[in-house]
Amino acid sequence: MVPRPFRLVGRRQDTTDTFTVLLEPTEGDPLGFVPGQFTMLSAFGVGEVPVSVSGAAHVAGPLQHTVRDVGAVTHALSRASVGDVLGVRGPYGTGWDVAHGHGKDVVFVAGGIGLAPLRPAVLEVLSHRDRYRRVVVLYGTRSPDDLLFADSLADWQGQGVELLVTVDYGPPSWAGRVGLVTTLIPRAGFDPKYTLAFVCGPEVMMRRSAMALVERGVTPDSIRVSLERNMRCGVGLCGHCQFRELFICVDGPVLSYARVAGLLGYREV
Ligand SMILES: Cc1cc2nc3c(=O)[nH]c(=O)nc-3n(C[C@H](O)[C@H](O)[C@H](O)COP(=O)(O)OP(=O)(O)OC[C@H]3O[C@@H](n4cnc5c(N)ncnc54)[C@H](O)[C@@H]3O)c2cc1C
Repeated sequence: MVPRPFRLVGRRQDTTDTFTVLLEPTEGDPLGFVPGQFTMLSAFGVGEVPVSVSGAAHVAGPLQHTVRDVGAVTHALSRASVGDVLGVRGPYGTGWDVAHGHGKDVVFVAGGIGLAPLRPAVLEVLSHRDRYRRVVVLYGTRSPDDLLFADSLADWQGQGVELLVTVDYGPPSWAGRVGLVTTLIPRAGFDPKYTLAFVCGPEVMMRRSAMALVERGVTPDSIRVSLERNMRCGVGLCGHCQFRELFICVDGPVLSYARVAGLLGYREV
């Protein structure tokens, strides 16, 4: 439960409200993780929040987190400068099981900041590109200004990824698609019978995307979602993240849609 001190060695402002921090332990080994896992990231004296790792798992280098500034702790994290020390516990939780997609089409559906937790999985797949058939990334944000990882997106296309991007609202200068990310699912090039899909974003977006994938013919047990719940301990003790019989910090955050489909529609579970 004791956070390890990590020094901020780099910082990038991705959009007006989203930033990326690069962290290295002040001593000891770097943090190993699998794509989809999260850490409890703390701004000392303010608090601790769960944040997914957004960097590559298979490449040595600083621990990378991409964070949207929405409240007290994320705001304190946004104000940290290079050289400052933050606390890190973890990694925790289940990961995106990309290896189950070997020999299949792999489809990533991201909404807004949801691309950050998916990015390590995309990078993992691309590091073994020959083991997968088609790789499709469907990405939706509120506006063109909210698009994350523009460099990565261009790079992925260069590596044979079919990338479809859409925004909820586009200014007249936006020549791309306008509409919800779910509208991309019927038009993307993948074979639903041989597809493993990974979905991350706001809960309503994940539910609608999973339903659209099922409608296209992907089976619920071939769809993964990453659930977000209020968390404190991260290790299955405090119960803050309880979702009926599940503790999202240890049973999740990545879960099969087949397991949670019946729970997602209910309020207050
Ligand atoms: C497993 C897991 C992984 C996560 N990964 C990431 C990640 O990679 N990047 C990231 O930016 N966030 C991620 N989050 C969400 C992050 O933990 C919350 O944004 C954070 O806890 C908010 O804390 P705060 O003290 O800054 O805001 P609070 O003061 O707790 O909340 C401020 C206000 O913002 C609202 N709010 C809280 N969270 C969100 C949210 N996610 N979106 C919109 N409004 C919100 C609250 O309802 C409240 O009204 C993840 C959460 C979980 C459970």
